[in-house]
Amino acid sequence: MKQDSTLDGKLQNFIDEETIRAEMAKSENPSPGLIKEILLKAEEKQGLDPDEAAALLRNTDRELDEAIFETAINIKKAIYGNRLVVFAPLYITNECSNQCQYCGFKAANKELDRRTLSPEEIKSEVEVLENIGHKRLLLVYGEHPTLGADWIAETVKDVYSVISAKSGEIRRVNINCAPLDVEGFRKLHEVGIGTYQCFQESYHRPTYEKLHKAGPKKDFLWRLHAMHRAQEAGIDDVGMGALFGLYDPVYEVLGLLHHARQLERDWGVGPHTISFPRLEPALNADIAYNPPYPTTDHEFKKIVSVLRLAVPYTGLILTTRENAEFRKELLEVGVSQLSGGSRTYPGAYSDPEYDRPDVQQFCVGDNRSLDDVIQSIVGEHGYVPSWCTACYRLGRTGEHFMELAKTGFIQKFCLPNGLLTFKEYLEDYASEETKRVGEELIRKELENYADPERKKLLTDRMARMEAGERDLYI
Ligand code: SAM
Ligand code: SF4
Repeated sequence: MKQDSTLDGKLQNFIDEETIRAEMAKSENPSPGLIKEILLKAEEKQGLDPDEAAALLRNTDRELDEAIFETAINIKKAIYGNRLVVFAPLYITNECSNQCQYCGFKAANKELDRRTLSPEEIKSEVEVLENIGHKRLLLVYGEHPTLGADWIAETVKDVYSVISAKSGEIRRVNINCAPLDVEGFRKLHEVGIGTYQCFQESYHRPTYEKLHKAGPKKDFLWRLHAMHRAQEAGIDDVGMGALFGLYDPVYEVLGLLHHARQLERDWGVGPHTISFPRLEPALNADIAYNPPYPTTDHEFKKIVSVLRLAVPYTGLILTTRENAEFRKELLEVGVSQLSGGSRTYPGAYSDPEYDRPDVQQFCVGDNRSLDDVIQSIVGEHGYVPSWCTACYRLGRTGEHFMELAKTGFIQKFCLPNGLLTFKEYLEDYASEETKRVGEELIRKELENYADPERKKLLTDRMARMEAGERDLYI
């Protein structure tokens, strides 16, 4: 499908402030009856309109808020089961020519120790990550004129080239970098990136322009159309996001939903993932210590729940910006992917003196190791961690993936494949205790497996893994 959100070659602003204001006005003081009606609609798993999402966010009745959480928990269970995709961010460079007021990497921050990893340093970082069990990475880059698409593509190749002693390799590299032109995205597509991720930060254009006064990022529309250009270049898994704390959260959620709709309209497929970072303290970024629109934990949990109801088949990503306790609650209401054992500066994973506020982008709220995170989500919550990359490697991406997801495919393929990657993790990387709780979970999952044919397939593959085979999927 071809994009049509440009008119006469000019980029169109498909985030219409008037429309969003009207949707917000319509949703003011929603009646209990309306909230219940919207929740009934959400249960059909067909998504919600932006004004319906706004009404849920505007509800102030605590009991009805609990009903919103309950519905989100049910939808999440029905579509995703108890599986959670696990990844780690890998910062490649903190050089940046932009002046995003909230970010420790902004050019004006002269106290930041600037680093760009060499190919050798990238490989060392990847080895560390592989040796603790990671298979999926999100590469993160500042934006700098000397570090363009060709260089980014080389860094991706460096990551894929590392095969660690423990038979590990990175099987999916996702990217979070500044928007490129179509040609640049094509280069990333050619080296086999998975998802291209880029957050609009704020969908409220005046706020966006106030916070990004200099550097290439000041162009709101260029950023807004990044996903469209990525699609044009053949990258059909795209991930969007908003940075919560900068502007009215209801406006931002509606912005995300309109963006998702525009992608569906123009490319036949919405975003593969949505992220919802909340502002965290960052070196010399005053606004990050004192957000103009602070979002309480309760509001934030509602945002995640409402997104789960509004776009049920879109992956929702949670990072270690949130602390361990709160992450558990967010997992229940809708998150389907989470990072673990994350560090947020270039070279951090190989740094013995880890904890360097003078190099990192922002402060991490959950400092546990990957093994601790896995032990907790498995032992305390019964989630199956998944490092599965089968769909991407079998070409089940973009529109094709969405079609499949809507027909119960996630339960049929993602869960068994997730279990296989979890078994691999337990065999190769887990601590004694994680292995104990993990084997117990796998035993229970197999016991309760409804489809006898699939169960047999799965049991056979588990046995082959115990005998030393790796990277098995359905
Ligand atoms: N430089 C690229 C860009 O801006 O798109 C990509 C990397 S940037 C490091 C990734 C994301 O970090 C940004 O899109 C922003 O949402 C988030 N971020 C920046 N400062 C933050 C802060 N203080 N707290 C939480 N997230 C922050
Ligand atoms: Fe640079 Fe991205 Fe940080 Fe902005 S958010 S200063 S573009 S790294």
